[in-house]
Amino acid sequence: MVVLIDDTTLRDGEQTAGVVFSNEEKVQIARMLNEIGVHQIEAGIPAMGGDEMEAIKSIIALGLKSSIITWNRPVISDIDCSLECGTKAVALSISASDIHIQYKLRQSREWVLQSVKKATKYAKSHDLYVSVNAEDASRADPDFLIQFARVAKDAGADRLRFCDTVGVFEPFRTHEAICRLIEEAHIDIEMHTHNDFGMATANALAGIRAGAKWVNTTVNGLGERAGNASLAEVVMALKHIEKIDAGIDTTRLRELSLYVAEASMRPLPVSQAIIGDNIFAHESGIHADGVLKHPPTYEAFSPEEVGLERQIMVGKHSGSHTILFKFAREFGIELPEDIAREILARARAMALRRKRALFDKELVLIYQEVCKERGLELPPVGMPGSGHN
Ligand code: MN
Repeated sequence: MVVLIDDTTLRDGEQTAGVVFSNEEKVQIARMLNEIGVHQIEAGIPAMGGDEMEAIKSIIALGLKSSIITWNRPVISDIDCSLECGTKAVALSISASDIHIQYKLRQSREWVLQSVKKATKYAKSHDLYVSVNAEDASRADPDFLIQFARVAKDAGADRLRFCDTVGVFEPFRTHEAICRLIEEAHIDIEMHTHNDFGMATANALAGIRAGAKWVNTTVNGLGERAGNASLAEVVMALKHIEKIDAGIDTTRLRELSLYVAEASMRPLPVSQAIIGDNIFAHESGIHADGVLKHPPTYEAFSPEEVGLERQIMVGKHSGSHTILFKFAREFGIELPEDIAREILARARAMALRRKRALFDKELVLIYQEVCKERGLELPPVGMPGSGHN
């Protein structure tokens, strides 16, 4: 089964309230997405003109392996702006739900269908690849959505983007809706899911299981409000849960996430799924012991796979096995059991006082203190200089 990734960090991702990328950053993000093997990059909105158009032109000029798609309203002038940028693929976005048609567009369903038809035909007459985006598809009348998809297909659209614009679907309903669309409209589907109820990735996966070929992602799950489905989550969940290889070089996911976190000025939460600082940090005695004996006991995949490293932390929940391990492997000291137990007791107390795990330096200081009290000679400590363990 083939799943193609269309990453929209540069379009929906940048639409995150308060986020703006410089043109250099947009180009760099596009390069990195291309290098890791993303199939298509939604580069922006040409009709915005100015810097946005310049950035899109620069990205297209790179001649990347990834296809570049640009976002448009289904109007001729927008498509002309896309053509001016030199794109070969366009997303034509129009609302499919009555709430949008009535209150936002103040138009009729018939007007929507005519717009889809006209814009798609125009784009196809210029040899563009066309994704018709059914905005707010999850809240559309399902029968109208089928009609919408058929009109798009008949006008020549290459695929339909199913947008759960306000993130109100869940995986079961998503699966049902996508199965029906494919069965009745016979068109390639792309999932575009939002995380308002924390289900963006789950819904994207449900759509793929129902037969969607494309999935829209953003790095770090950036995007309007609660964001879109995260690239790292979708790729790794496909690989490990669905056993589908999307052909992405996952070893650079962490690097890409850090770059986008900085460019978007949205720091990564430590517990960010897949690529956060804490994903391979183990503190509790039972977990650390299990991981040290056999990593898969408490890890869903290996850290190297996403560009992370395993960390064994010493804190309130540590066990003496962790102390023995850390001193032997990281500091080159074989501790007697009673000294390890004493260090553990003091380390736990310190963690509680300081409300955090211990730095390596603090552990070594505790060790030196214990040796001194017991009148033991201080052996040289081959510990790492500073910083968090
Ligand atoms: Mn969106």
